[in-house]
This record gives sequence, structure tokens and C-alpha cells, in this order.
Amino acid sequence: MKRILIVEDELVIGEVQKDYLEAAGCAVEIATSGDVGLAKALAEDYDLLILDLMLPKVDGFEICRQIRARKNIPILMVSARKEDIDKIRGLGLGADDYMTKPFSVGELVARVKAHLARYDRLTGSGHAARAEEIRLRGIRIDKPSRKTYVNEAEVPLTSKEYDLLLFLALHPNRVFGKDELFEKIWGLDANGDTATVTVYISKLREKIEADPSKPQYIETIWGVGYRFNV
Ligand code: CA
Repeated sequence: MKRILIVEDELVIGEVQKDYLEAAGCAVEIATSGDVGLAKALAEDYDLLILDLMLPKVDGFEICRQIRARKNIPILMVSARKEDIDKIRGLGLGADDYMTKPFSVGELVARVKAHLARYDRLTGSGHAARAEEIRLRGIRIDKPSRKTYVNEAEVPLTSKEYDLLLFLALHPNRVFGKDELFEKIWGLDANGDTATVTVYISKLREKIEADPSKPQYIETIWGVGYRFNV
């Protein structure tokens, strides 16, 4: 079941959206202030965020900016003012869709479904392996051309670096041991050992991370292995 978080301070509006989305088969939670919404969205694994712009404590602009820096989930922003929607677009905060209040809840449900389906195609279980392109936060991997882009700038990777990145990106948020990665990428019969994995992870970080000493994408789980964070 898809999990949706609605951040909306007008509870009546939030409740109506919740009813319709639940009728469409989603699990829905509501946060009525910006700080609570931001904390929940960061801490939990939602599949989609519906974000009101004007909120107490932390506004929708700031929430969108912080979530987008950490997660790739679809963000649908709503505002009562058309000018605000233009402003959001102008700021390039990375929201996936925008709606001006009042809107029909049927329209909201249709858009939510479309974004969930698109997100599934990119990252969903099994679907990602068939997608031609993977987008995870600032990383874009174009599979037909085997090219990788960080914030839309192409990053040249060697064949094995690419294979390793692709494998991790196809299984976001899952931890893999070095043994497992060596076997998957190099094969059991290859020359080398798990130290090879360490070397290649560090090469990859040099190329894709803004600060390789504080990786945002490929995280080391001490004593266990590595995971690609989404
Ligand atoms: Ca509001």
C-alpha cells in the first residue's frame, strides 16, 4: 500500500484529501504544522508528499527544499495563490507538480496516482531494472548509453564503476556487503577480492559526491557494507 503524507494546516481540507486518497487505496497521514510535517517526511518512508505552501512554523518552500536534498519521492505542492505557484516554479525547488486551491479532489487523486506510477517505474520493486533511466536525487543514469550525470553534468565512469553504481542505484536503501558486491559486479571467478570493492567505492565517490569524505549518496555502513541512500 502506498503511503502518503499530507502537510496541511487546514484540517478540514486535509481530511477531505485523506478520505479520497484512502478510498483510492492509499495509507494517508496528516501533519498540521510545517515542523511536524518536515520531521515526519524525513524520518519515515512515504511514497508521496502533498505539501501546502503556507504553514505554521516551517513553510512549504523550506520543507520542499529540505526533502528534495535527501529524498527522491514525488512532491505535489498546493497553494491558494497562483502567484505562489509561479514563485515555486521560479525557485526550482524540485517539486513534481503544483495545484492551486481550490481544486477538485478527483483531480488531486488522478495526479497522485500518475506520480506514484511514474515513481514506481523509476525505483519500484523490480520495475527499476527495466526502466531506461534511473533518477535518484541528483544522480541520473541513462542505461542505453551507459552515461551518468550528477546534477545534469556528465561524469565519465569506467565500466566497472558504472556497473557498481548502477547495481547500488537499482537497489536504493539496501545494504550490500563487500563480498556480495564483488560477486555481483566482478563475478566469483574474477581476480581480486573485497578490497577491490573498497577501491572502486572510493573512486566512485570522488566522481559523484560533492564531498567524498562526507558521502551523501553511497553511505558506508560500518562492519556491514554500503548502501545507496535515497
Ligand atoms: Ca495553509
